[in-house]
Amino acid sequence: MPVAGLGPYDAHNVFARILRGEIPCRKVYEDEHALAFHDINPQAPIHVLVIPKTPYVSLADFAASAPPPAIAGFFQAVAKVAKQLELEDPGYRILANMGADAHQEVPHFHVHIFGGRPLGPMLQQF
Ligand code: AMP
Repeated sequence: MPVAGLGPYDAHNVFARILRGEIPCRKVYEDEHALAFHDINPQAPIHVLVIPKTPYVSLADFAASAPPPAIAGFFQAVAKVAKQLELEDPGYRILANMGADAHQEVPHFHVHIFGGRPLGPMLQQF
């Protein structure tokens, strides 16, 4: 479902349901700001999603509306997850899809962490 960058937030989206414990996830990490879990359709040997625990549609929404400590805590969590996954040495890629051109499917801001093999060029050729 393509989404606009800013609210309103749909409390029925799949990540909101995971946060409420209504559907399961393969949890990797959790703290007060963030939850990390394996992507259900991995695009690399390691493909983990990190989501804030608070309801923001996209990076645009999160950056505009979340309190700065929540923003800092979230991005610190992303780096902690990559370290916990032992990806710092070989390297990894983070990605956040925002809106229609990026094919954002889930309207709850999230960062993808990819790793576990050389990841190739940053984008498909166009
Ligand atoms: P995006 O296109 O950036 O919105 O990516 C959404 C991601 O969420 C995709 O990579 C999906 O495979 C993933 N996804 C959707 N539902 C689930 C789920 N229940 N558990 C884990 N990952 C999911």
